[in-house]
Amino acid sequence: MTLDILVKNVALWGVEGTRDVAIAQGRFVSIDHSPTLSSSAVTLDADGRMAVPGFVEPHIHLDKALISERAPVNISGTLTEAIEILWNIKRNYTVDEIADRASRVLAQAVENGISGLRTHVDVDPIGGTRPADGLIRARERFRDLIDIQIVAFPQEGIVKSPGTEALMRQVMKSGVDVVGGMPFNEASPQDSRRHIEIVFDIARQFDADIDMHVDETDDPMARTLEVLAELTIKNGWQGRVTAGHTCALASYPRNYADQVIGRLHDANVNMIANPATNLMLQGRLDDYPKRRGVTQVKELLAAGVNVACGQDCVHDTFYPFGQNDPLEVAFLLCHASQMSQPAEILAVMDMVTVNGAKALRIPDFRVAVGAVADLVVLDARDAREAFATRAPRRWVIRKGKLIAEATLERRRHFDIPGVSAA
Ligand SMILES: [Zn+2]
Repeated sequence: MTLDILVKNVALWGVEGTRDVAIAQGRFVSIDHSPTLSSSAVTLDADGRMAVPGFVEPHIHLDKALISERAPVNISGTLTEAIEILWNIKRNYTVDEIADRASRVLAQAVENGISGLRTHVDVDPIGGTRPADGLIRARERFRDLIDIQIVAFPQEGIVKSPGTEALMRQVMKSGVDVVGGMPFNEASPQDSRRHIEIVFDIARQFDADIDMHVDETDDPMARTLEVLAELTIKNGWQGRVTAGHTCALASYPRNYADQVIGRLHDANVNMIANPATNLMLQGRLDDYPKRRGVTQVKELLAAGVNVACGQDCVHDTFYPFGQNDPLEVAFLLCHASQMSQPAEILAVMDMVTVNGAKALRIPDFRVAVGAVADLVVLDARDAREAFATRAPRRWVIRKGKLIAEATLERRRHFDIPGVSAA
């Protein structure tokens, strides 16, 4: 038997010790002992480095990515201004330029070892269907490299933005996968509830999952997360609903927060923290003490809720940084949510891998004989080191092919006693 790739001495995520991993015809054919008398077209020695099946990016906005190159500055630094200064740009969007900007970020995602990604796309009368058409085109370009789910995102509201509901149904027909929402961006609690009801109605029509932006506000009176949990159970959509941001949860009094977390658990709602954007946007109008807006990650995990984390924004009106790197997002989350103990650091690595896969309902996300051969070898021995250095992706293997590698070489031109040579 001739192997396509043999990765030797690799520390698989969640497995003690190191293994030799053999790949042929796009699948793992052996783990631990190489098939005897076999040769391999490519042999890679991981030398004890760690590997994950891939990273999952569960929440990003590719239609807006890299828009800051031509957008006005967000002077207040708030979510509201970030949305409003986009309107003019959105009016002049073209499908081609959206596809090209998204493609630049997707190429980076592939190099960073992301194998599954969910992007929201604005759907509203300002941009019409052009953002969705642009991302569908970008998805096609990357078909063999990364699995992409697209979410129809009514950022301007549904009830208060007439025409949006029809556009959402239209893009769902043309290839968008998931129904999005932004229920807090409505005129009243009644309209927010109506917004969520419309989202479930569209989801039922297309038998689609739901992924909403929920309560991206510091307002402790925001209540749409609880409504989402209630309607998830009422519609029998348990396990198929994801809530992103949920910043208001970080401002709730303890007893109400616990009550909502309990309902989220009952409804099996997946939660996404977006530490980069929310550390930047939330609490802008506070004096000190200043709220930092990142949802209650530790408390949700302790209650048994599935929590992942995502980049959200890349160089747009909301956030000026971001390189679509799950290790960078994980590093930020460790700080924002004060996850510093060894077990907590392991939990954060789960958030950017298996928890994300669960939220996106990606099947078979594991390194096992017979599974599709996706493997990302990091230039790190463990999760702590991987986060600390945002470790280079030594090799990225996708569907049994080596699709990216990092060949960083550092040279030290000085000697210090007590410090080993580079
Ligand atoms: Zn978002």
